[in-house]
Amino acid sequence: MPAVVTRFAPSPTGYLHIGGARTALFSYLYARRHEGRYLLRIEDTDRERSTEDAVRAIFEGLDWLGLVSDAEPVFQTQRYDRYREVIDGMLEAGTAYHCYCSKEELEQMRAGQMARKEKPRYDGRWRPEPGKLLPERPAGVQPVVRFKNPVAGEVVVDDLIKGAIVFQNEELDDLIIARGDGNPTYNFCVVVDDMDMGITHVVRGDDHVNNTPRQINILKALGAEPPAYAHVPMILGADGVKLSKRHGAVSVIEYRALGFLPEALLNYLVRLGWSHGDQELFSRDEMIRMFDISRVQKAPARFDMEKAVWVNHQYLKSADPLHVAPELDWHLRRIGVDPAGGPALAAVVEAQRERCKTLVEMAEKSKFFYAELDGYNEKDAAKHLNAEGRALLAELAARLEALPQWNAPALQEAVHAFAEGKGLGLGKVAQPIRVAVAGMAISPPIDQTLFLLGRERTLARLAAAVARNNP
Ligand code: GLU
Repeated sequence: MPAVVTRFAPSPTGYLHIGGARTALFSYLYARRHEGRYLLRIEDTDRERSTEDAVRAIFEGLDWLGLVSDAEPVFQTQRYDRYREVIDGMLEAGTAYHCYCSKEELEQMRAGQMARKEKPRYDGRWRPEPGKLLPERPAGVQPVVRFKNPVAGEVVVDDLIKGAIVFQNEELDDLIIARGDGNPTYNFCVVVDDMDMGITHVVRGDDHVNNTPRQINILKALGAEPPAYAHVPMILGADGVKLSKRHGAVSVIEYRALGFLPEALLNYLVRLGWSHGDQELFSRDEMIRMFDISRVQKAPARFDMEKAVWVNHQYLKSADPLHVAPELDWHLRRIGVDPAGGPALAAVVEAQRERCKTLVEMAEKSKFFYAELDGYNEKDAAKHLNAEGRALLAELAARLEALPQWNAPALQEAVHAFAEGKGLGLGKVAQPIRVAVAGMAISPPIDQTLFLLGRERTLARLAAAVARNNP
């Protein structure tokens, strides 16, 4: 067994959200750093809220981010026999017991406690104790199973992020671990799984802090060594309120659609609540080497879209264009453009990446390399495809047509010489060309643009622009 085993345990009740992805990343990094294993568990026991689509969406998100499990994922719904076996063992060992309280009885209990201004809790009436006489079992009631929580003492959670958190056992009542129909409950499944999967470090959202002392007590009752816990503070939106749909994209796959590279999103996420000096950009290897869970901030982090986009741009600018090409392919197809038959995607990535912060932008601005123009940007056309601009283009087109070779240096030379000969600045010539070939006054450097677009398409588009009537 490796010394460190972590897990990511999403409930498939929706897409994989940003917070979940960060938890997965932290679990993954912790395991990698300690040469351990990172596992995935799908917590699908809530059958009403769990869906197949959500399971697929979670896998899709994790695959895209490259946070795939080191072993076959575990599905809780496939483990009911095991949970029942553990429950039977606990009943036998006396660490759990049957409780026959009806709903009405529990409600009465609660109402009485509230009236006496006491904290509502199970009063232990079916809890066996030496010498205690239990009530008579009512006929026809399917009992629940409750965990016999220690009555005294405390549970100390030595949280790797938050420090020691102390819970008093008297505050914890006897948790139901199996319902009347025999089905195990949430906290119990987590405990059995963490035990069986040999989890040594639980990294999860801090909304689970209050479950932890209960889980530790059950683990101890089972004779298992509780794992270490790291509860990660939540992520807030820019306005300081818990990140939610209101703030825009929250699902990982939406970030793909927004034009992020997976490694850029991971880089942004690792910095959400964690830092290493003032370093902003981390390769995956650096993340693994440098990430230290105990240095995750205690306070919630704020999601900052502008910064995320900045990180993405840094990645677009420095990544291997061959690596970015398939993502650009995905985005072009998404906007209905088939990149086959156009310039190599990697070359387009290289030409565009300085000015494109996202792949959405890159796809939009690169469409013209692969698809016929669907018109001109009106403002740009009015400004640059006027009579004067068209006259220039007509002359230039003839020059370009006569070029013996269609390559960037030759095109550069030809356009420059043409502008010089006319006594014009390069922009005066380049802008009409851009509008003619790209439909807008933005494109990579003109030599690159024309080279990538190719001779045939360039000449056809120049001709079409020349033939255009006055706007
Ligand atoms: N399934 C829980 C969730 O989605 C995580 C539980 C855990 O990590 O222990 O929030």
